[in-house]
Amino acid sequence: MELQDKIREAFVSHFGGEGIFYASAGRINLIGEHTDYNGGFVFPGAIDKVIMAEIRPNGTDKVNLYSVDLNDSSTFGLEEADAPSQQWARYIFGVCRETIKRGGTVKGFDAVFAGNVPLGAGLSSSAALESCFAFAVNDLFNANSIDKFELAKIGQSTEHNYCGVNCGIMDQFASVFGKKDCLIRLDCRSLEYEYFPFKIDGYKLVLVDSVVKHELVDSPYNKRRESCERVAKRLGIETLRDADMEMLDAVKADVTSEDYMRARFVIGEKERVLGVCDALNRGDIATVGRLMYETHEGLSKDYEVSCEELDYLNDVAKECGVTGSRIMGGGFGGCTINLVPDDIHDSFIATVTEKFNSRYGHKPKIYDVIISDGARRID
Ligand code: ADP
Ligand code: MG
Repeated sequence: MELQDKIREAFVSHFGGEGIFYASAGRINLIGEHTDYNGGFVFPGAIDKVIMAEIRPNGTDKVNLYSVDLNDSSTFGLEEADAPSQQWARYIFGVCRETIKRGGTVKGFDAVFAGNVPLGAGLSSSAALESCFAFAVNDLFNANSIDKFELAKIGQSTEHNYCGVNCGIMDQFASVFGKKDCLIRLDCRSLEYEYFPFKIDGYKLVLVDSVVKHELVDSPYNKRRESCERVAKRLGIETLRDADMEMLDAVKADVTSEDYMRARFVIGEKERVLGVCDALNRGDIATVGRLMYETHEGLSKDYEVSCEELDYLNDVAKECGVTGSRIMGGGFGGCTINLVPDDIHDSFIATVTEKFNSRYGHKPKIYDVIISDGARRID
């Protein structure tokens, strides 16, 4: 059954009558990894996998929710002390609370929601959930007076304050600002952004999820950050955003070889994002793909956040003639994003599935994605 019909049916049976439909999307990031905390660029877009909700104000001070996918209900008030126990409901409670904290209005409502963003696959189902409800609450109770950046920050603060996830702004930003056939280059230092048309006739974007997550003992993220901070400090700049290779090479003798490699990746990655944007403007898909492979190489060899499974997925993509392929996300597991010519799409999926399965004993999960609209009201 279509998502909307499924929600409609559950809304009628739980609450009766009808509400207004809203949706928001999961996201991909084409290139720009580990750049956010270095003041660099990311290049995300919203995808055709969404969380959708039917919502109706109920004239009380209580929120009544039903999650179709989890077949679970939750009711809560809107005061800080009313936090629900279920994790999934805390995303929505958090959005309400963060809206109120910013001076916005939230009143009681009934809502049913469902989605098709795979959970925990690196496509940010949580950001889709937050931005769907942030957008709806803004539309229903605040006459859309809260600007879009603030909606993204409401989602981000929800993760920080109600879900224990210390994330950056990219996921919520992409989910709120996403536009069909466009990627958005976000400058993580100034928060300026720019849309780039992403019309890739003849190619598809395919996510290959390794379904592995290596648990690491020595908090590698913090170590990577510390390396970057040390090099920036040595260069007398705030973040590596302001460095280039010449500057780095001038202090090569004063930093450890490990720190040097980390910084080399970050500086290269900033350039690669800009290079991909230029290439897209020229319609030069081959260069986009080449830079994606370079990012993978850098993440694997210089930044050392890959793993055997992800390197294998990258190798198989190369062998199959995939135009571009790289780790998407922080690394140590999760998925690769692949730019795949239409004519090898089916054979690539068959080959990568079979080869990965015979090597690691389980199949990767495959998701085709299309760059689509982000948060919206559905009339
Ligand atoms: P992701 O990488 O997909 O964002 P997270 O662990 O951050 O993974 O968020 C997943 C959580 O978001 C789920 O555990 C659940 O609480 C909530 N969630 C996401 N999608 C749905 C859904 N369709 N229905 C109910 N809850 C959902
Ligand atoms: Mg998440």
